[in-house]
Amino acid sequence: MRYLEPDAIDTLDGQRLTGHEAFRFHCHGGLACFNRCCRNVHLLLYPFDLLRLKRYLGLTAAEFLERHTDAVLRPGSFFPDLLLRMSRDDEGSCPFLGDSGCAVYPERPDVCRLFPLQQAALCDAGGAPVEALYFLRPPPFCLGPRETRQRTPEAYCREQQAGTYHPLTRKWAELWRRFQQDPWAGAGPSCPQARMVFMALYNLEEFHRFVFESSFLKRFRLGPGVAAKARSSEEELLHLAMDWVQLLLWRVSSARIGLR
Ligand code: SF4
Ligand code: SF4
Repeated sequence: MRYLEPDAIDTLDGQRLTGHEAFRFHCHGGLACFNRCCRNVHLLLYPFDLLRLKRYLGLTAAEFLERHTDAVLRPGSFFPDLLLRMSRDDEGSCPFLGDSGCAVYPERPDVCRLFPLQQAALCDAGGAPVEALYFLRPPPFCLGPRETRQRTPEAYCREQQAGTYHPLTRKWAELWRRFQQDPWAGAGPSCPQARMVFMALYNLEEFHRFVFESSFLKRFRLGPGVAAKARSSEEELLHLAMDWVQLLLWRVSSARIGLR
């Protein structure tokens, strides 16, 4: 998911599509390129990807972060992104690529689900998303676009069961857009506040303790039923974490959380 400034759209690579414009693409095991796109890639993990993967693998968030990710600060951003750490084989293969394909297929990251489409959101002047866009960007070796099958990005999202991911991916994109401005007042992305935010977004076990074992519930006003849902559902806890970050850094309240 990317947020685009309107005047930057035409400079981006790839075929631009609305959600209902058909494109030609079909990926299947009979293609010579099968699984080649799982090698030698920079795979960004969003907070919801991390949640689903660590749970599927039976790891804590801290274990997953330690074993499988590298935090990188991309140019122009004031908050680190997480990259999946690739294997050290000659091809830089994804660590989840096995002999029979993707070993985490039911919980594969959002980027993998939509590949070779990339999501974008066109926003109004206030930053509110007004239109979902997609960019078809297959690498040169990808043979999928030579197949005859056609469908729209919306149909492709349904087929890949990506809809569950999109609300949290969009929310993450909104945070990521805000992180293009320095929220740390020059203290840098390793300052104590930035570490708290990193914990909230990427380590939900720790954030759960922070919410329920500190004075958090006395300091912040939660919406009806939010605490109970966040206690039992990691998805709800992640929503709360993202809303808390917006409140903490930009004073944006939500139905889930506000200042007392
Ligand atoms: S390179 Fe393209 S067609 Fe080949 S496996 Fe990857 S997505 Fe499918
Ligand atoms: S997570 Fe699965 S689909 Fe994504 S790059 Fe790794 S092996 Fe490929």
